[in-house]
Amino acid sequence: MNVLVINSGSSSFKYQLIDMNTEASLCSGLVERIGETQGKLTHKVMPGTAEEKKFTVEQPFPDHVAGMKTVVDILTDPERGVIKDKSEIHAIGHRVVQGGETFSKSVVVDSVVRAAIHDNIPLAPLHNPANLSGIEVAQELFPGVPSVAVFDTEFHQTMPAKAYLYPLPTSLYKELKIRRYGFHGTSHRFVTKQAAKFLGKKADEVNLVTCHLGNGCSMAAVKNGQCIDTSMGMTPLAGLMMGTRCGDIDPAILPFLAENKGLTIKEIDAILNKESGLKGVCGMNDMRDIHTARLEKGDDKAQLAFEMFCYRIKQYIGAYIATVGPIDAVVFTAGVGENDEYMRAEVCKDMEHLGIEIDLEENNTRRGVARSISKGGKVQVLIIPTNEELEIAQATVDVLKG
Ligand code: AMP
Repeated sequence: MNVLVINSGSSSFKYQLIDMNTEASLCSGLVERIGETQGKLTHKVMPGTAEEKKFTVEQPFPDHVAGMKTVVDILTDPERGVIKDKSEIHAIGHRVVQGGETFSKSVVVDSVVRAAIHDNIPLAPLHNPANLSGIEVAQELFPGVPSVAVFDTEFHQTMPAKAYLYPLPTSLYKELKIRRYGFHGTSHRFVTKQAAKFLGKKADEVNLVTCHLGNGCSMAAVKNGQCIDTSMGMTPLAGLMMGTRCGDIDPAILPFLAENKGLTIKEIDAILNKESGLKGVCGMNDMRDIHTARLEKGDDKAQLAFEMFCYRIKQYIGAYIATVGPIDAVVFTAGVGENDEYMRAEVCKDMEHLGIEIDLEENNTRRGVARSISKGGKVQVLIIPTNEELEIAQATVDVLKG
């Protein structure tokens, strides 16, 4: 069974075609600058393998339908294509950012589901409309092929009220659904299942702290395979320090900024989302540049940004161990989590009292597969490459099989 995974943004979309019999990715790509005078399509056949072939197409894509039509042409091209015709796409899995309280599981998309995704637009005004347009394009171009919506928020819907409610007037929750939802749920769920497999436990028996550390960062407290708390909130701005997002700050800073700098809410929002985090502290948001700056150029700001980033993660690990109880493992995943040995060493330093101790040599080795870097402490420290597309495809298959 071939599943086409679509992650649709406002002016771009990513896609990946996965053969679910082997779980191999047949091809993946990105269509960007939709609606601009010149668009770009980057396509990879057999991505991530030794046989990977990459090519680009530069042409205008007036809308998502035009972009998707070109993708279909490439997928079915007699020379470069990976399928003969559209009928070899058996299902489509869509990433949808915000499922609100409506969706605690992935679902087959019908008109009721589309309307509910639409109803959740106020909670994700940038993402849900784009996700919906991806669904509409797929339904137009692949009539009769089932579409499944897989929500970033669904894994976190098991949080108890004491974790997801904010200490605000209850009326605001009732009226506007202001609460913690959490994001990156597909990644947290994927690494939870992989960690259980690695540890030889059942998925509903594993206790973990999962750290998804990429440009966006979030952590989850996982008890018996279920999320009981997570660091992102009503929006992805909360929690850890990120590439350009501030994470948790004193909320009184917002009115203070408005009063003392005369900034509008929009301007403050832009500072918190785009000019803060690592970038705000040291001017760089890619951890590789930060390491070069602090280690090779003695850049104090880069050093401070790195220490602040790690300090928050350490704090959340402590908090989540207190929340979950004895854990089997701390899991690192995503761009920084999987690749940054400096970050892992700093976060896990002086954590023996919590049963966390890593083997520095193993930590410094790159392998690209799920593995442990523990040095015999009670708690395993795992690096697990995330694969959100595969998780979406798997959820799609599971939903369709009922
Ligand atoms: P993601 O959002 O998961 O794609 O992660 C992207 C981030 O991973 C980039 O912004 C980098 O900061 C980080 N990253 C990728 N490779 C490395 C590396 N070798 N060392 C440290 N950070 C890395």
